[in-house]
Amino acid sequence: MTATPTHCPYCALQCGMYLVERNGAVQVEARQFPTNKGGLCRKGWTSAELLAHPDRLTVPLLRTQKDAPLQQVSWPHALDFLVKRLQHIQQEYGPESAGVFGGGGLTNESAYLLGKFARVALRTPHIDYNGRYCMSSAAAAANRAFGLDRGMPFPVADIAEAEVVLLAGGNPAAAMPPIMQYFEQQKARGGTLIVCDPRRTATAAMATLHLQPVPGTDMALAYGILHIASRENLLDHAFIRERTSGFEELRAQIAAFWPERSERITGVPAAQIQQAARMLGHAERAILLTARGVEQQSKGVDNALAFINVALALGHAGKTGSGWGCITGQGNGQGGREHGQKADQLPGYRSLANPKHRAEVAAVWGIDPDALPGPGLSAQELLEGIGEEGGIKALLVIGSNPAVSAASAGVVQKRLEQLNLLAVADFFLSETAQKADVVLPVAQWAEMEGTMTNLEGRVIRRRRALPPPPGIPADAALIAELAERMGFRAQFPKDAEAVFEELCRASAGGLADYAGLSWKRIEREEGVFWPCPAPSHPGTPRLFLDRFAHPDGRAKFHAVRYRPAAEEPCSLYPLYLTTGRIMAQYQSGVQTRRVRTLHDMAPEAFVELHPQLAQQHGIPEGGQVRVSTRRGTIEVKARITTDIRPDTLFIPFHFAGKGCANLLTNSALDPISKMPEFKVCAARIEAVLTPAGQN
Ligand code: SF4
Repeated sequence: MTATPTHCPYCALQCGMYLVERNGAVQVEARQFPTNKGGLCRKGWTSAELLAHPDRLTVPLLRTQKDAPLQQVSWPHALDFLVKRLQHIQQEYGPESAGVFGGGGLTNESAYLLGKFARVALRTPHIDYNGRYCMSSAAAAANRAFGLDRGMPFPVADIAEAEVVLLAGGNPAAAMPPIMQYFEQQKARGGTLIVCDPRRTATAAMATLHLQPVPGTDMALAYGILHIASRENLLDHAFIRERTSGFEELRAQIAAFWPERSERITGVPAAQIQQAARMLGHAERAILLTARGVEQQSKGVDNALAFINVALALGHAGKTGSGWGCITGQGNGQGGREHGQKADQLPGYRSLANPKHRAEVAAVWGIDPDALPGPGLSAQELLEGIGEEGGIKALLVIGSNPAVSAASAGVVQKRLEQLNLLAVADFFLSETAQKADVVLPVAQWAEMEGTMTNLEGRVIRRRRALPPPPGIPADAALIAELAERMGFRAQFPKDAEAVFEELCRASAGGLADYAGLSWKRIEREEGVFWPCPAPSHPGTPRLFLDRFAHPDGRAKFHAVRYRPAAEEPCSLYPLYLTTGRIMAQYQSGVQTRRVRTLHDMAPEAFVELHPQLAQQHGIPEGGQVRVSTRRGTIEVKARITTDIRPDTLFIPFHFAGKGCANLLTNSALDPISKMPEFKVCAARIEAVLTPAGQN
């Protein structure tokens, strides 16, 4: 085996790496790639350990009765069982009784084929993916403000060029450490970094200014900044006049957030809000970034729009070294939604509700546009609707673990058990797969070919470095096999490159236009930024330099109104609970919890709390703590730190079982993006006493 240039399987930075074989084992080596410039985090360095992991699924599993154990069966047996059950359920309850739940880690090819499989082979509108829990609020905000959603409308390297960077609700120093080189360069060049986070994270610790708001008050913070910028005449009126619309409607909102009121709501001292306003307002070039802390709320879209309002009002958009962007979490959270895995979208970022878009995609798929189902249920609605009148009866899950990653996970776990059929395709027996009737093993990232689209909108090549275990298909080949067994052989290519060529045709003319791409070109150019409508087109590293994507070419202000979190602290649950990432784990942990080095670094969940709170409750460092919300109770160890607000608890969400943070989180949805409120709910704590009365 020679060195295979490819990318890390995990987060959206998609760091470049080589895979090489040494002494019979596949190992990771550093690779210079424009985003990571040779850097990798621990997750990337150890990612190849999973290729030969003993937990690896290599044979299909089947459960013939609800309480019976899963048993190994042959591929023909498993596939026959699955297809017959699916068809039987759809005959009895209608096509819409089947649902598909995909993942933000799937390649573009798999995501595209999965969307087509749901709509053409299953004829169901109900397909969504765990990217709903990642990017949906930022995506909806970008579409509203700019007319186009691409996580970052500029390359990550632009971060180093900005005079001021404001980062709200993200901790990339833990989640994607190699990106920090750009923040470090920005600071080394004399730049200013403002971080908004209820915790003094590793990222906040390197900030020039750390604003520590009460969870769920981000919009008030953004408006407080705008109020001061307006009062101190720091708005860019020429930019507002020439490149935007809707500013007048925003004025009333800005006026209502005078410094003392903003301080009262957010808990951030007015002087600090003023400092942030002046830093941003005096800068020639500033980048504003939001991440899940701001977006995973029942008002996540409005929060993102409030920060976009700041960027637009100060003229920090549509020019090099400036702009608003979001830091995508999952490896292919971007491409996964561009090509039809999301409940309301068709390939090329087309809309299922738009007759013209439906006709364009139907023509590529060779079907009548009227045969295309309409928009389906979003992820949380789909899962919580199981067992209800008209809810899903059969669910196919690929590359996702909603039993751990969905909000109100206890409810979701019970709903999954109510399905007539649960089929899971994965390479480990995830917590969701443990509940399945059929488990289909699939290839891992290094065992298949494809493309991913990173957080900048750069389409990159993921290459196969070694074959999968005998008989194990790649995701796309498995989807094509299922479609063939359902009578759709000709429409579903099994070869991933052929799928990509079809995807490019289907995206032509759409907002996310890949028509000018091919695997060869992506390899040759080390990635190409979309839109790229023709082979002769250079790709688009920076969007909006001349015009925004709305028909009038202007960006739109949105006069969104501040509202509190869906659930605020009360006498029974007096604290805020927020959740997030840690460096050594990724997503629901199915992969990273199995990597020895990462497990040793972070073997279990914990709750981070302030010393004042610990003292009030008699909780020592490392003591066992019971954390409860209206959804449930978990027990975890205490980590006591002054880095968190005294009114706030933090629990990482990567763990299952009694440390599963999502047993506590609130599934109140954003009305536009349908994003659950992962990042704020009301909670209480108590020390767990041992029989001897000691914690
Ligand atoms: Fe992988 Fe993300 Fe770490 Fe890079 S930052 S090595 S892509 S997990």
